[in-house]
Amino acid sequence: MSFAGYFINGTVRDNELFAAVNDELRRQRDQVELIASENFVSEEVLSAIGCVMTNKYAEGYPGKRYYGGCKFVDVAEKLAVERVCRLFGCKFANVQPHSGAQANLSVFYALAKPGDVILGMGLAMGGHLTHGSAPTISGKWFRAVNYGVDEDGFTDYDQVRRLALEHKPKIIVAGASSYSRKIDFGRFREIADSVGAFLMADIAHYAGLIAAGLYPSPVGAAHAITSTTHKTLRGPRGGVILTDDEAIAKKIDGAVFPGVQGGPHMHIIAAKAVAFFEALQPSFKEYARNVLDNSIMMADRLKELGLNIVSGGTDCHMSVVDLTKLSITGKIAETELEEAGITCNKNAIPFDKLPPQQTSGIRIGSAAMTSRGLKTTDFKKIADLIYKVLSGYGKPGHEELKKETRSETLRICGEFPLYGKDRALP
Ligand SMILES: *Cc1c(COP(=O)(O)O)cnc(C)c1O
Repeated sequence: MSFAGYFINGTVRDNELFAAVNDELRRQRDQVELIASENFVSEEVLSAIGCVMTNKYAEGYPGKRYYGGCKFVDVAEKLAVERVCRLFGCKFANVQPHSGAQANLSVFYALAKPGDVILGMGLAMGGHLTHGSAPTISGKWFRAVNYGVDEDGFTDYDQVRRLALEHKPKIIVAGASSYSRKIDFGRFREIADSVGAFLMADIAHYAGLIAAGLYPSPVGAAHAITSTTHKTLRGPRGGVILTDDEAIAKKIDGAVFPGVQGGPHMHIIAAKAVAFFEALQPSFKEYARNVLDNSIMMADRLKELGLNIVSGGTDCHMSVVDLTKLSITGKIAETELEEAGITCNKNAIPFDKLPPQQTSGIRIGSAAMTSRGLKTTDFKKIADLIYKVLSGYGKPGHEELKKETRSETLRICGEFPLYGKDRALP
Protein backbone atom coordinates (compact mmCIF):
# COMPACT_ATOMS: atom_id res chain seq x y z
CA MET A 1 0.00 0.00 0.00
CA SER A 2 1.53 3.27 -1.05
CA PHE A 3 -0.43 5.58 1.25
CA ALA A 4 2.43 8.09 1.20
CA GLY A 5 4.25 5.73 3.54
CA TYR A 6 3.36 8.06 6.37
CA PHE A 7 0.98 6.14 8.58
CA ILE A 8 0.21 2.89 6.94
CA ASN A 9 3.17 0.83 5.96
CA GLY A 10 2.06 -2.49 4.63
CA THR A 11 -1.49 -3.60 4.09
CA VAL A 12 -4.83 -2.22 5.19
CA ARG A 13 -8.10 -4.09 5.51
CA ASP A 14 -10.23 -1.26 4.21
CA ASN A 15 -8.83 -1.16 0.72
CA GLU A 16 -11.90 0.56 -0.61
CA LEU A 17 -11.42 3.65 1.54
CA PHE A 18 -7.66 3.84 1.36
CA ALA A 19 -7.77 3.53 -2.40
CA ALA A 20 -9.69 6.82 -2.37
CA VAL A 21 -7.12 8.33 -0.01
CA ASN A 22 -4.34 7.29 -2.35
CA ASP A 23 -6.24 8.69 -5.33
CA GLU A 24 -6.62 11.97 -3.47
CA LEU A 25 -2.91 12.01 -2.68
CA ARG A 26 -2.18 11.47 -6.38
CA ARG A 27 -4.61 14.24 -7.34
CA GLN A 28 -2.96 16.65 -4.91
CA ARG A 29 0.47 15.72 -6.23
CA ASP A 30 -0.49 16.19 -9.88
CA GLN A 31 -2.58 19.37 -9.82
CA VAL A 32 -1.37 22.97 -9.67
CA GLU A 33 -3.41 23.94 -6.60
CA LEU A 34 -4.56 27.56 -6.71
CA ILE A 35 -7.63 27.37 -4.46
CA ALA A 36 -6.96 30.35 -2.20
CA SER A 37 -8.32 28.70 0.94
CA GLU A 38 -6.21 25.55 0.66
CA ASN A 39 -2.69 24.64 1.69
CA PHE A 40 -0.47 21.60 2.28
CA VAL A 41 0.32 20.89 5.92
CA SER A 42 3.66 19.57 7.07
CA GLU A 43 4.20 15.89 7.84
CA GLU A 44 4.36 16.73 11.56
CA VAL A 45 0.94 18.39 11.40
CA LEU A 46 -0.39 15.35 9.51
CA SER A 47 1.02 13.04 12.19
CA ALA A 48 -0.66 15.00 14.95
CA ILE A 49 -4.00 14.91 13.07
CA GLY A 50 -3.72 11.13 13.00
CA CYS A 51 -2.55 10.75 16.60
CA VAL A 52 -4.08 8.91 19.60
CA MET A 53 -5.44 12.11 21.12
CA THR A 54 -8.48 11.51 18.92
CA ASN A 55 -9.49 8.87 21.48
CA LYS A 56 -9.78 11.31 24.37
CA TYR A 57 -12.86 13.09 25.70
CA ALA A 58 -11.94 16.40 27.31
CA GLU A 59 -15.05 18.58 27.64
CA GLY A 60 -14.10 21.76 29.45
CA TYR A 61 -10.76 23.56 29.46
CA PRO A 62 -7.26 22.66 30.73
CA GLY A 63 -7.38 22.13 34.51
CA LYS A 64 -11.23 22.27 34.46
CA ARG A 65 -12.32 19.16 32.59
CA TYR A 66 -15.45 17.07 32.96
CA TYR A 67 -13.44 13.86 32.45
CA GLY A 68 -10.45 12.17 34.10
CA GLY A 69 -7.23 11.31 32.29
CA CYS A 70 -6.78 14.74 30.72
CA LYS A 71 -3.21 15.37 31.92
CA PHE A 72 -1.57 15.02 28.54
CA VAL A 73 -4.25 16.54 26.34
CA ASP A 74 -4.08 19.48 28.74
CA VAL A 75 -0.42 19.85 27.78
CA ALA A 76 -1.40 19.92 24.11
CA GLU A 77 -4.16 22.50 24.57
CA LYS A 78 -2.01 24.75 26.77
CA LEU A 79 0.78 24.63 24.18
CA ALA A 80 -1.67 25.55 21.42
CA VAL A 81 -3.10 28.47 23.43
CA GLU A 82 0.27 29.80 24.56
CA ARG A 83 1.76 29.56 21.07
CA VAL A 84 -1.12 31.18 19.21
CA CYS A 85 -1.15 34.05 21.73
CA ARG A 86 2.56 34.55 21.15
CA LEU A 87 2.12 34.30 17.39
CA PHE A 88 -0.46 37.09 17.20
CA GLY A 89 0.57 39.04 20.29
CA CYS A 90 -2.74 38.72 22.12
CA LYS A 91 -3.76 37.71 25.64
CA PHE A 92 -6.49 35.07 25.33
CA ALA A 93 -7.21 32.29 22.87
CA ASN A 94 -9.79 29.56 22.46
CA VAL A 95 -8.41 26.81 20.23
CA GLN A 96 -11.43 24.49 20.39
CA PRO A 97 -13.66 25.64 17.49
CA HIS A 98 -14.02 22.79 15.00
CA SER A 99 -13.98 25.22 12.08
CA GLY A 100 -14.06 28.86 11.08
CA ALA A 101 -17.86 28.78 10.89
CA GLN A 102 -18.06 27.41 14.46
CA ALA A 103 -15.67 30.12 15.65
CA ASN A 104 -17.88 32.80 14.11
CA LEU A 105 -21.07 31.29 15.50
CA SER A 106 -19.47 31.13 18.95
CA VAL A 107 -18.62 34.84 18.89
CA PHE A 108 -22.14 35.71 17.73
CA TYR A 109 -23.50 33.52 20.53
CA ALA A 110 -21.21 35.20 23.07
CA LEU A 111 -21.85 38.82 22.07
CA ALA A 112 -25.30 39.02 20.48
CA LYS A 113 -28.87 37.80 20.79
CA PRO A 114 -31.19 36.50 18.05
CA GLY A 115 -32.78 39.47 16.33
CA ASP A 116 -29.76 41.74 16.84
CA VAL A 117 -28.24 43.42 13.80
CA ILE A 118 -24.91 42.22 12.44
CA LEU A 119 -23.14 44.22 9.77
CA GLY A 120 -20.78 42.25 7.53
CA MET A 121 -19.39 42.30 4.01
CA GLY A 122 -21.86 40.83 1.51
CA LEU A 123 -21.10 37.42 0.04
CA ALA A 124 -21.20 38.73 -3.52
CA MET A 125 -18.73 41.48 -2.58
CA GLY A 126 -16.15 39.13 -1.09
CA GLY A 127 -17.55 38.36 2.36
CA HIS A 128 -18.10 34.90 3.83
CA LEU A 129 -21.39 32.97 4.10
CA THR A 130 -21.21 33.17 7.89
CA HIS A 131 -21.16 36.99 7.86
CA GLY A 132 -24.92 37.25 7.43
CA SER A 133 -25.82 35.29 4.31
CA ALA A 134 -29.50 34.37 4.09
CA PRO A 135 -29.26 30.54 4.23
CA THR A 136 -26.97 30.48 7.30
CA ILE A 137 -27.70 30.91 11.02
CA SER A 138 -26.00 34.29 10.79
CA GLY A 139 -28.61 35.38 8.25
CA LYS A 140 -31.62 33.66 9.83
CA TRP A 141 -31.20 34.37 13.53
CA PHE A 142 -29.83 37.90 13.17
CA ARG A 143 -30.91 40.88 11.14
CA ALA A 144 -28.04 40.90 8.69
CA VAL A 145 -26.99 44.07 6.90
CA ASN A 146 -24.32 44.03 4.20
CA TYR A 147 -21.64 46.46 3.18
CA GLY A 148 -19.53 46.11 0.06
CA VAL A 149 -16.81 47.64 -2.06
CA ASP A 150 -16.72 50.81 -4.14
CA GLU A 151 -16.47 50.94 -7.94
CA ASP A 152 -12.72 50.42 -7.73
CA GLY A 153 -13.11 47.26 -5.69
CA PHE A 154 -11.96 48.69 -2.33
CA THR A 155 -13.91 48.43 0.95
CA ASP A 156 -16.46 51.23 1.04
CA TYR A 157 -15.86 52.61 4.56
CA ASP A 158 -18.31 55.47 4.01
CA GLN A 159 -21.00 52.90 3.36
CA VAL A 160 -19.96 50.93 6.46
CA ARG A 161 -20.31 54.13 8.53
CA ARG A 162 -23.65 55.02 6.98
CA LEU A 163 -25.10 51.55 7.52
CA ALA A 164 -23.76 51.42 11.07
CA LEU A 165 -25.42 54.73 11.96
CA GLU A 166 -28.66 53.68 10.32
CA HIS A 167 -28.96 50.12 11.66
CA LYS A 168 -27.06 50.26 14.98
CA PRO A 169 -25.49 46.81 14.71
CA LYS A 170 -24.54 44.77 17.76
CA ILE A 171 -21.56 43.33 15.88
CA ILE A 172 -19.63 44.63 12.90
CA VAL A 173 -17.68 41.96 11.03
CA ALA A 174 -14.46 42.93 9.27
CA GLY A 175 -12.94 40.19 7.14
CA ALA A 176 -13.56 38.43 3.87
CA SER A 177 -12.99 35.38 1.70
CA SER A 178 -12.29 36.95 -1.64
CA TYR A 179 -11.09 40.46 -0.88
CA SER A 180 -7.45 40.91 -1.86
CA ARG A 181 -6.72 44.32 -0.35
CA LYS A 182 -5.63 45.43 3.10
CA ILE A 183 -8.39 45.88 5.66
CA ASP A 184 -8.17 48.97 7.87
CA PHE A 185 -9.20 47.39 11.18
CA GLY A 186 -8.59 50.66 13.06
CA ARG A 187 -11.10 52.42 10.85
CA PHE A 188 -13.63 49.64 11.46
CA ARG A 189 -13.09 50.00 15.22
CA GLU A 190 -13.69 53.73 15.05
CA ILE A 191 -17.01 53.09 13.32
CA ALA A 192 -17.89 50.35 15.80
CA ASP A 193 -17.15 52.66 18.74
CA SER A 194 -19.25 55.43 17.26
CA VAL A 195 -22.35 53.22 17.43
CA GLY A 196 -21.45 51.09 20.46
CA ALA A 197 -20.94 47.90 18.44
CA PHE A 198 -18.49 45.07 18.95
CA LEU A 199 -15.92 44.64 16.21
CA MET A 200 -15.26 41.06 15.17
CA ALA A 201 -12.35 40.52 12.77
CA ASP A 202 -12.48 37.30 10.78
CA ILE A 203 -8.93 36.69 9.53
CA ALA A 204 -9.54 33.15 8.20
CA HIS A 205 -7.76 33.91 4.94
CA TYR A 206 -5.05 36.32 6.03
CA ALA A 207 -3.95 34.71 9.32
CA GLY A 208 -0.63 33.32 8.03
CA LEU A 209 0.35 36.65 6.50
CA ILE A 210 -0.69 38.51 9.66
CA ALA A 211 1.38 36.13 11.80
CA ALA A 212 4.35 36.95 9.59
CA GLY A 213 3.72 40.70 9.84
CA LEU A 214 2.90 41.05 6.15
CA TYR A 215 -0.76 42.04 6.43
CA PRO A 216 -2.43 44.42 8.94
CA SER A 217 -3.23 42.81 12.29
CA PRO A 218 -6.60 43.39 13.98
CA VAL A 219 -5.06 42.79 17.42
CA GLY A 220 -5.69 45.93 19.46
CA ALA A 221 -8.54 47.00 17.17
CA ALA A 222 -11.03 44.13 17.28
CA HIS A 223 -12.94 42.98 20.38
CA ALA A 224 -12.76 39.42 19.10
CA ILE A 225 -10.79 37.82 16.28
CA THR A 226 -11.79 34.59 14.59
CA SER A 227 -9.81 32.52 12.15
CA THR A 228 -9.48 29.19 10.48
CA THR A 229 -6.21 27.36 11.07
CA HIS A 230 -5.97 25.63 7.68
CA LYS A 231 -5.69 28.42 5.11
CA THR A 232 -2.55 30.58 4.95
CA LEU A 233 -1.76 29.56 8.53
CA ARG A 234 -1.09 26.04 7.21
CA GLY A 235 -2.45 24.01 10.10
CA PRO A 236 -5.14 21.34 10.47
CA ARG A 237 -8.74 22.04 9.46
CA GLY A 238 -10.17 24.03 12.37
CA GLY A 239 -10.88 27.37 13.99
CA VAL A 240 -9.53 29.65 16.70
CA ILE A 241 -10.76 32.75 18.55
CA LEU A 242 -8.49 35.46 19.98
CA THR A 243 -9.12 38.44 22.24
CA ASP A 244 -7.34 40.82 24.61
CA ASP A 245 -10.38 41.38 26.80
CA GLU A 246 -10.73 39.04 29.77
CA ALA A 247 -14.48 39.47 30.16
CA ILE A 248 -15.02 38.75 26.46
CA ALA A 249 -12.64 35.78 26.68
CA LYS A 250 -14.79 34.27 29.46
CA LYS A 251 -17.95 34.75 27.40
CA ILE A 252 -16.31 33.18 24.37
CA ASP A 253 -15.13 30.13 26.32
CA GLY A 254 -18.67 29.52 27.52
CA ALA A 255 -20.03 30.09 24.04
CA VAL A 256 -17.70 27.54 22.41
CA PHE A 257 -18.32 24.95 25.14
CA PRO A 258 -21.01 24.20 26.18
CA GLY A 259 -22.70 26.85 23.99
CA VAL A 260 -22.00 25.62 20.49
CA GLN A 261 -19.83 22.52 20.75
CA GLY A 262 -19.36 19.39 22.83
CA GLY A 263 -16.04 17.63 23.32
CA PRO A 264 -13.01 19.29 21.74
CA HIS A 265 -11.08 17.40 19.05
CA MET A 266 -7.86 16.95 20.98
CA HIS A 267 -5.91 15.47 18.04
CA ILE A 268 -6.76 18.57 16.00
CA ILE A 269 -5.81 20.83 18.90
CA ALA A 270 -2.50 18.94 19.07
CA ALA A 271 -2.03 19.58 15.34
CA LYS A 272 -2.89 23.25 15.84
CA ALA A 273 -0.11 23.41 18.46
CA VAL A 274 2.33 21.97 15.89
CA ALA A 275 1.20 24.44 13.22
CA PHE A 276 1.56 27.40 15.61
CA PHE A 277 5.04 26.14 16.53
CA GLU A 278 5.93 26.08 12.84
CA ALA A 279 4.47 29.53 12.25
CA LEU A 280 6.68 30.89 15.04
CA GLN A 281 9.84 29.77 13.21
CA PRO A 282 11.81 32.22 11.05
CA SER A 283 11.24 29.92 8.06
CA PHE A 284 7.51 30.70 8.21
CA LYS A 285 8.19 34.41 7.72
CA GLU A 286 10.13 33.49 4.62
CA TYR A 287 7.27 31.25 3.48
CA ALA A 288 4.72 34.07 3.95
CA ARG A 289 7.00 36.51 2.10
CA ASN A 290 7.13 34.08 -0.81
CA VAL A 291 3.34 33.60 -0.71
CA LEU A 292 2.91 37.34 -1.08
CA ASP A 293 5.57 37.77 -3.78
CA ASN A 294 4.13 34.86 -5.75
CA SER A 295 0.58 36.16 -5.49
CA ILE A 296 1.61 39.63 -6.66
CA MET A 297 3.59 38.13 -9.54
CA MET A 298 0.63 36.04 -10.69
CA ALA A 299 -1.77 39.01 -10.57
CA ASP A 300 0.69 41.37 -12.27
CA ARG A 301 1.42 38.90 -15.05
CA LEU A 302 -2.28 38.33 -15.78
CA LYS A 303 -2.71 42.10 -15.93
CA GLU A 304 0.22 42.40 -18.30
CA LEU A 305 -1.48 39.83 -20.50
CA GLY A 306 -4.57 42.04 -20.57
CA LEU A 307 -6.89 40.63 -17.91
CA ASN A 308 -8.55 42.74 -15.23
CA ILE A 309 -7.87 41.96 -11.59
CA VAL A 310 -10.58 43.13 -9.18
CA SER A 311 -9.28 46.30 -7.43
CA GLY A 312 -6.33 46.26 -9.83
CA GLY A 313 -4.08 44.03 -7.77
CA THR A 314 -3.48 42.26 -4.49
CA ASP A 315 -2.02 42.83 -1.01
CA CYS A 316 -2.29 39.18 0.04
CA HIS A 317 -2.16 35.56 -1.09
CA MET A 318 -5.14 35.79 -3.44
CA SER A 319 -6.72 37.76 -6.20
CA VAL A 320 -9.99 37.70 -8.09
CA VAL A 321 -9.63 37.69 -11.87
CA ASP A 322 -12.37 39.45 -13.84
CA LEU A 323 -13.04 37.36 -16.97
CA THR A 324 -15.56 39.72 -18.59
CA LYS A 325 -13.09 40.68 -21.33
CA LEU A 326 -12.65 37.06 -22.42
CA SER A 327 -16.41 36.44 -22.59
CA ILE A 328 -16.01 33.29 -20.54
CA THR A 329 -17.85 32.56 -17.27
CA GLY A 330 -16.12 31.63 -14.04
CA LYS A 331 -17.81 28.25 -14.15
CA ILE A 332 -16.40 27.41 -17.58
CA ALA A 333 -12.98 28.80 -16.64
CA GLU A 334 -12.89 26.60 -13.53
CA THR A 335 -13.64 23.47 -15.58
CA GLU A 336 -11.26 24.35 -18.42
CA LEU A 337 -8.41 25.03 -16.02
CA GLU A 338 -9.03 21.84 -14.07
CA GLU A 339 -8.78 19.85 -17.29
CA ALA A 340 -5.44 21.53 -17.89
CA GLY A 341 -4.24 20.58 -14.40
CA ILE A 342 -4.90 23.86 -12.57
CA THR A 343 -7.40 23.89 -9.70
CA CYS A 344 -9.15 27.12 -8.71
CA ASN A 345 -12.72 28.24 -8.07
CA LYS A 346 -15.28 30.35 -9.85
CA ASN A 347 -15.94 33.55 -7.92
CA ALA A 348 -18.34 36.46 -8.21
CA ILE A 349 -16.81 39.82 -9.01
CA PRO A 350 -18.29 42.93 -7.32
CA PHE A 351 -21.53 43.98 -9.08
CA ASP A 352 -21.46 40.71 -11.04
CA LYS A 353 -24.16 40.48 -13.70
CA LEU A 354 -24.07 36.68 -13.75
CA PRO A 355 -25.69 34.42 -11.13
CA PRO A 356 -23.50 32.80 -8.43
CA GLN A 357 -23.62 29.41 -10.20
CA GLN A 358 -21.84 31.00 -13.18
CA THR A 359 -20.00 34.16 -12.07
CA SER A 360 -17.71 36.42 -14.08
CA GLY A 361 -14.52 35.63 -12.22
CA ILE A 362 -12.16 33.13 -10.70
CA ARG A 363 -10.26 33.35 -7.42
CA ILE A 364 -6.63 32.28 -7.43
CA GLY A 365 -4.22 31.94 -4.53
CA SER A 366 -0.56 31.21 -3.97
CA ALA A 367 -0.46 29.68 -0.46
CA ALA A 368 -0.57 25.98 -1.40
CA MET A 369 1.90 25.93 -4.28
CA THR A 370 4.30 28.15 -2.33
CA SER A 371 4.35 25.39 0.30
CA ARG A 372 5.59 23.07 -2.44
CA GLY A 373 8.47 25.46 -3.09
CA LEU A 374 7.40 27.36 -6.21
CA LYS A 375 8.95 30.78 -6.70
CA THR A 376 7.96 33.89 -8.68
CA THR A 377 9.29 32.58 -12.00
CA ASP A 378 7.10 29.49 -11.59
CA PHE A 379 4.04 31.60 -10.79
CA LYS A 380 4.69 33.77 -13.82
CA LYS A 381 4.69 30.60 -15.89
CA ILE A 382 1.42 29.49 -14.26
CA ALA A 383 -0.18 32.87 -15.08
CA ASP A 384 0.89 32.35 -18.70
CA LEU A 385 -0.72 28.91 -18.70
CA ILE A 386 -3.95 30.27 -17.20
CA TYR A 387 -4.11 32.95 -19.86
CA LYS A 388 -3.34 30.47 -22.64
CA VAL A 389 -6.14 28.12 -21.62
CA LEU A 390 -8.75 30.83 -21.01
CA SER A 391 -8.01 32.98 -24.06
CA GLY A 392 -7.96 29.91 -26.29
CA TYR A 393 -11.40 28.76 -25.18
CA GLY A 394 -13.76 28.11 -28.08
CA LYS A 395 -11.02 28.55 -30.69
CA PRO A 396 -9.71 25.85 -33.03
CA GLY A 397 -7.01 23.63 -31.53
CA HIS A 398 -8.20 24.27 -27.98
CA GLU A 399 -8.32 20.62 -26.93
CA GLU A 400 -4.75 20.18 -28.14
CA LEU A 401 -3.66 23.31 -26.28
CA LYS A 402 -5.24 22.00 -23.07
CA LYS A 403 -3.36 18.70 -23.49
CA GLU A 404 -0.08 20.55 -23.90
CA THR A 405 -0.85 22.61 -20.82
CA ARG A 406 -1.65 19.44 -18.90
CA SER A 407 1.82 18.04 -19.67
CA GLU A 408 3.33 21.33 -18.58
CA THR A 409 1.41 21.40 -15.26
CA LEU A 410 2.45 17.77 -14.64
CA ARG A 411 6.05 18.74 -15.27
CA ILE A 412 5.80 21.61 -12.75
CA CYS A 413 4.24 19.30 -10.16
CA GLY A 414 6.97 16.73 -10.74
CA GLU A 415 9.61 19.36 -10.14
CA PHE A 416 8.14 20.17 -6.69
CA PRO A 417 7.21 16.82 -5.12
CA LEU A 418 4.51 16.69 -2.45
CA TYR A 419 4.89 14.37 0.54
CA GLY A 420 7.77 12.66 -1.18
CA LYS A 421 10.62 11.07 0.73
CA ASP A 422 13.08 12.96 -1.41
CA ARG A 423 11.74 16.44 -0.72
CA ALA A 424 9.52 16.89 2.30
CA LEU A 425 7.68 20.06 3.17
CA PRO A 426 9.35 22.41 5.66
C1 LIG B 1 -13.04 29.94 5.16
C2 LIG B 1 -13.71 30.99 5.93
C3 LIG B 1 -14.52 30.70 7.03
C4 LIG B 1 -15.05 29.32 7.36
O1 LIG B 1 -14.16 28.36 7.66
P1 LIG B 1 -14.66 26.84 7.74
O2 LIG B 1 -13.54 26.20 8.49
O3 LIG B 1 -14.81 26.37 6.34
O4 LIG B 1 -15.93 26.79 8.51
C5 LIG B 1 -15.01 31.75 7.80
N1 LIG B 1 -14.72 33.01 7.48
C6 LIG B 1 -13.96 33.34 6.40
C7 LIG B 1 -13.69 34.77 6.11
C8 LIG B 1 -13.46 32.33 5.59
O5 LIG B 1 -12.76 32.67 4.50
